[in-house]
Amino acid sequence: MKKVALISDGWKRLITYAWVDGIMTAIRKSGENVCLHQYNCYGNWSRDELHNQGEYNIYNLPELSKYDGIILDCNNIVDEKVLSGLISMLRKADVPVVSIGYDIEGFYYAGIDNRQPILEMMKHLYEVHGCRRFIFAGGPEDNYENSLRVQAYRESLEEFGLKTAENPVLYGDYDYETGIVHLKKVIEEGWALPDVFVCANDNIAAGLCEAAEELGYEIPKDFLVTGFDNLDKAAYFKPQITTVGHERERIGKKCMEILLDLWQGKKLDKHNFVPAECIFTESCGCPNNGMVDYREYVKNQIVYGVKKQEDEELLMELEGNIVNASTFEEIFERIGEYFEKLECDGFAMVLDKGLFEADVNTVFPTEGYDRDNLIVAHLFERGRKVCMHSLEDIYQCMEQYGSSNAYMFTPIHFKNQAVGFSIMKNARFLYDNPYFYDIHSTIVKALENLFKTRQMENVNRRLKDMYNRDPMTGLYNRIAYSEMIEPEYRGYCEKNVACAVAFLDVDKFKQINDTMGHEYGDMILKKIAVTLKELCPAGGYVYRFGGDEFVVFFPKASQEKIDMFRTKLVVKLREHEIEISIGTVLTDPDSGKVLDDYLAEADKKMYEMKQDRKKNQIYEKFVP
Ligand code: GH3
Ligand code: MG
Repeated sequence: MKKVALISDGWKRLITYAWVDGIMTAIRKSGENVCLHQYNCYGNWSRDELHNQGEYNIYNLPELSKYDGIILDCNNIVDEKVLSGLISMLRKADVPVVSIGYDIEGFYYAGIDNRQPILEMMKHLYEVHGCRRFIFAGGPEDNYENSLRVQAYRESLEEFGLKTAENPVLYGDYDYETGIVHLKKVIEEGWALPDVFVCANDNIAAGLCEAAEELGYEIPKDFLVTGFDNLDKAAYFKPQITTVGHERERIGKKCMEILLDLWQGKKLDKHNFVPAECIFTESCGCPNNGMVDYREYVKNQIVYGVKKQEDEELLMELEGNIVNASTFEEIFERIGEYFEKLECDGFAMVLDKGLFEADVNTVFPTEGYDRDNLIVAHLFERGRKVCMHSLEDIYQCMEQYGSSNAYMFTPIHFKNQAVGFSIMKNARFLYDNPYFYDIHSTIVKALENLFKTRQMENVNRRLKDMYNRDPMTGLYNRIAYSEMIEPEYRGYCEKNVACAVAFLDVDKFKQINDTMGHEYGDMILKKIAVTLKELCPAGGYVYRFGGDEFVVFFPKASQEKIDMFRTKLVVKLREHEIEISIGTVLTDPDSGKVLDDYLAEADKKMYEMKQDRKKNQIYEKFVP
């Protein structure tokens, strides 16, 4: 099976749907075994540089040299560094690359024919409507397609024998606002109005028409306006806007046809154009072309509005369900349910293990992905949940069953830190739901919320541990004793369970320190801690009470159990030449005594034992 990567930036329908649809149409038509992996992000959207960096990091995910062909749409990448980095990565991959609408050395070019339709449009304006004064209301000066349109415009002027200086070109953006700005500039600078504004696209044309109407001009009576792209904005505008029509899906199809031809060893031109045709109508003084059904359009708008509202409600429901989820599993379940309602064949989330650990010090990579740490956290395919664990599993599966399928990879990141990515299979819902970015952001927000909550819990746990534990032996300290054991002891009393309290103190520990050194003394304390933990019966706790004093508490005790514990302890410590004095008591749930009473009793017994041993000089010989 052959693999094609589509590398893109943007959430507009043409990128997430039209390119993919065209590519898949060509794949199916060819009968070849080919699958498509789209690596898409929205890196040109946020004002937060770190966020954008996190988005663009998805381009570091694929091993580009393993693909048989790459299709690139970099028209929305405005960050020069990102663009040049991506281009050099693609060059290194040494795989045929087809670039959509952006001319790059060494890559094939696919796009609509910009020149022919502008030449035809200009000829029509000149010959049919007698235009002699033109203004090109252009888009971005550095945009490749805009520059092709400008070139064709100037070529026509030359052919008509008109001077470029008298028929200027204005530059701006590709949006509605640009049309308004262009008209205002002409008026404010006191230029004579032209016969026609040739606009670089329909957005500019619509903005310009609207601004003109507000200023009291009539189109086409006062001047003509033309657009490009045949968006709904042109077809349904008042006046209906003369434009250039082309099918975006055909560009996707063209890209794939180029790759298919190259695989067959065919020699191709660098530039490959999809035809586009002029549609002449009201804004250039022609009659309404009658190609659109306004009632149908309004009906579709109503249906679209209802559908959009349904989609929004569904997303709000998802948000409500996951934003305060207490486990990651819960989030995955809800996401699964959500995607099952969308037209799509599968959805997977590949996430860094660090997310689940939520350690205070967790940092995720900022360049590329930590492949060894990535796991398939959640996956469903056509309504059933599938179990896969490693990244390799999922890649292998795509390799095996991927033919004629389109997978879309979207980055999951917290700012610039790469937490993982999602993979969506054949997302047909993107055709009329271009809001995948909102869906994805909602999911990422929920993951980040839970991650931060978990991190906070872990910090609190760690702080509490620091507060409750003796750092040297790792045992609970005196603070923990009062906090934990008192309430637990009351519980046992209520259940009529007898417990054991043992208080022990090392004999002649000062002398050990003095003769063997403080470090040796520390080692002895640690040894005692380990031994106590080892011998403490189930359900019990060991505390370092201070200095060389330790307390052991365990439930379900009897005198025999206590004696056994005590004997084992003394014997075991003696093996390490450690002598202790120990006082033990068995609690009586009916006595009405509190735990402190028993602790004092055990302490007293320990003290008595020590005095006794001192008197009899029992432990002199055990001092090392
Ligand atoms: P006794 O036989 O009566 O129990 O006398 P002792 O020498 O064991 O002295 P005592 O229990 O009264 O005092 C405990 C000593 O333990 C005091 C202090 O120097 C020492 N000590 C306390 N904390 C530490 C520690 O963290 N490490 C070390 N090495 N020594 C400690
Ligand atoms: Mg002591």
